[in-house]
Amino acid sequence: MQLTVLGCYGPYPPAGGACSGYLVQEAGCNILLDCGNGVLSRLQEFIDYRDLDVVLLSHLHADHLSDLMIMRYGLMLNPKSKLSDQPLPLYAPPEPAGEFERLPYKSAYAVNALNEHSAFDIGPFTITVSSGVHAVPSFSFRLESPTASLVYSADTEINQNLAPFAKSADLFLCEANYLEADITAGLTNHLSAAQAAMIAAEAGAKKLLLTHLHPQRNSSLYLAEARKYYLAAELAQERFIYQI
Ligand SMILES: [Zn+2]
Repeated sequence: MQLTVLGCYGPYPPAGGACSGYLVQEAGCNILLDCGNGVLSRLQEFIDYRDLDVVLLSHLHADHLSDLMIMRYGLMLNPKSKLSDQPLPLYAPPEPAGEFERLPYKSAYAVNALNEHSAFDIGPFTITVSSGVHAVPSFSFRLESPTASLVYSADTEINQNLAPFAKSADLFLCEANYLEADITAGLTNHLSAAQAAMIAAEAGAKKLLLTHLHPQRNSSLYLAEARKYYLAAELAQERFIYQI
């Protein structure tokens, strides 16, 4: 299994950066996890977007779906061949309803609503979800293949589901939009680097990749905080390819 970080910032990117987008590949299968602003451009540095097998949206916030609204133009105007004009499968939470209803566009996407019991296979991957706690419904994803396991937290504040869901993951890709000082100050909706690290430790994850980083923070602060609780922590880096 291979993970390429296309964008790792939120809720907006720094100059030259991108918001959430992760390409997961194995055995010729291409899965895009989230499709925030800047992701379509980055994706094409690695693969043709028409070669995606599925897009999984964790939640319906703009920093996770913006480029989906652009990619649909490409899919409609630039089909790979006359024989391959099938809609691209897309999985997303059905709420907020107004956002969900905007997703289909001239059949560019075959939209499927996620729920807390969703479980499905795509190529060599078995995909399951877990409910997070965020301003809108948000799902974490677990991708299991014959070779490895990847868990992506998506956006969530601390919740009891996440550590069991990430149990023994080979790679835990976890948001860390905050530092502990933010949690102490009462901010909600996201995890701190320390919380991400404590979840990784409780889960027994083999490696932690911190993501959804705030564009105006010195990233080394996140890493220093996380490593107090979990040594095998790293910062996600855009354009890096991780072999899992
Ligand atoms: Zn976000």
